[in-house]
Amino acid sequence: MTALRDESPTARTIVLDVPGWPGHRPGQHVDVRLTAPDGYSAQRSYSIASAPAGTRIELTVQRLPDGEVSEYLAQTLAIGYPLELRGPIGGWFVWDPRSTASVLLVAGGSGVVPQMAMIRTRAATGARAPFRLVYSVRDPASALYAGELAERARAGEGFEAAYVYTRSAPPGWPAPAGRISAQVLASSGWPSARAPAVFVCGPTGFVEAAADLLVAAGHGPHMIKTERFGPTGGQP
Ligand SMILES: Cc1cc2nc3c(=O)[nH]c(=O)nc-3n(C[C@H](O)[C@H](O)[C@H](O)COP(=O)(O)OP(=O)(O)OC[C@H]3O[C@@H](n4cnc5c(N)ncnc54)[C@H](O)[C@@H]3O)c2cc1C
Repeated sequence: MTALRDESPTARTIVLDVPGWPGHRPGQHVDVRLTAPDGYSAQRSYSIASAPAGTRIELTVQRLPDGEVSEYLAQTLAIGYPLELRGPIGGWFVWDPRSTASVLLVAGGSGVVPQMAMIRTRAATGARAPFRLVYSVRDPASALYAGELAERARAGEGFEAAYVYTRSAPPGWPAPAGRISAQVLASSGWPSARAPAVFVCGPTGFVEAAADLLVAAGHGPHMIKTERFGPTGGQP
């Protein structure tokens, strides 16, 4: 591990140099295994946040209250501690930078992590597929990568980002805090007639609600790829 970076009060990025890393596709994840001195071990999946770049990968871990593995990774882990990981894993929830189709990313909380790999890969490869991100977070402080996303959107190179605040919106925000809605997806996403490739990721309840709204808006179920991060999570 080469660096640690706070992304929010409860999430941090772990930068790893993985000898022999074969490279990855944006959207893939790794399995991280922690083993205690008594031999007890626990394993969880974490998406890769970075664009492919040699043997270097970045993970962003959201600390959950009483989370067995996330508390360790997002709080206790220090540079030099060993980390056992396996990957890259996954061939479904991936974006191909050669594709020119419009892309709609719908993220809840840390569900933005694999989508960040797609956004970064788009920029790193000079791909020009138009991207729109609809990002649902509890409040402004919970948003991951906010500065980078704002900068990429400002660059005006075919990337746009819109936020949904579920608990507390910033002062002057035009809408009250609330869940992701058909209205937000219609105004900040792509129309279904454009047949965008859609990637939805986040807590299970969020993913199911967002996918239902997208299908109701006419997006073909075969165009919607989903990844569920947690068995019990609701809206972020
Ligand atoms: C393919 C994949 C990729 C993932 N990528 C990431 C990632 O990039 N970053 C990241 O932070 N997490 C990611 N996750 C979630 C991660 O694998 C763990 O589930 C999460 O860190 C919780 O593990 P824990 O050991 O800390 O919590 P546990 O000890 O397993 O659970 C603690 C409590 O939190 C609840 N819980 C578990 N998962 C969630 C959740 N997602 N949302 C809300 N409540 C939950 C449990 O029901 C329990 O009550 C990913 C999951 C999958 C399947």
